[in-house]
Amino acid sequence: MYHSVGTSGSFFSVTPSEFTNQMEFLRRNYDIVSLEDVLSFVSGTVEFSRRSVAITFDDGYYDNFVNVYPYAKKYELPIAIFVASGYIGKEMSLGNVSLKMLSWKEIAEMSKDTVTIGAHTSSHPDLRRLDLNRAQNEIEMSKVEIERATGRPVNFFAYPKGAYNNALFNLLKSSGFSSAFQVGEGLVRKGDNPYELKRVSIDSSVNYRVFVAKLTTASEWYAELEKACGKLISFLSSLSGIVKYNGQ
Ligand SMILES: [Zn+2]
Repeated sequence: MYHSVGTSGSFFSVTPSEFTNQMEFLRRNYDIVSLEDVLSFVSGTVEFSRRSVAITFDDGYYDNFVNVYPYAKKYELPIAIFVASGYIGKEMSLGNVSLKMLSWKEIAEMSKDTVTIGAHTSSHPDLRRLDLNRAQNEIEMSKVEIERATGRPVNFFAYPKGAYNNALFNLLKSSGFSSAFQVGEGLVRKGDNPYELKRVSIDSSVNYRVFVAKLTTASEWYAELEKACGKLISFLSSLSGIVKYNGQ
């Protein structure tokens, strides 16, 4: 799970050169699969013969069009971008900076290639804090607007800030979503609940070695360890320069 790829200086911006290094590593060592493939794997209808990874981007930053899309197009990588539809053509604050968002034109162009556009609500709220009617509006509005702009069905969802509860599973299902992604660190396994699929967050604090480790079960050990002794870890992290992911 990426957010921005650029030189904004935000904690959530990975520089283009680091992003390229990470993609080269994935292309050498993994099969890069689509979200449809992930879902087929989770439901048990498809087996992967090699280690496989799906690449997602949250929010819909304009820099995805400039710094990610050309690479994805060149190597035919099936990436996915989860777009907060109410922010299209506007700006969104990402940590300490404000970043330009994608336009509908760019979204439509990318969706004609190997880019899957997923929904990420309209106004990017914490869905747990809304009553179910408002949550449903947020979820369905983003789906309808993206479908109108791209002419393609939108089946995948990502929870803003990774915030979700069990009541949202049925809401997403009845709104026509086949799956939803959270930000909990970890790998996707056969039989997982398709409405709480884990991801591995990649931000500016992730160096090459950490990137490689995060793609293994090490990401889950780290998440467990962090839960068990959160305070100690954040203290140690501040010493070692590793900054804890704080959700976007
Ligand atoms: Zn987001």
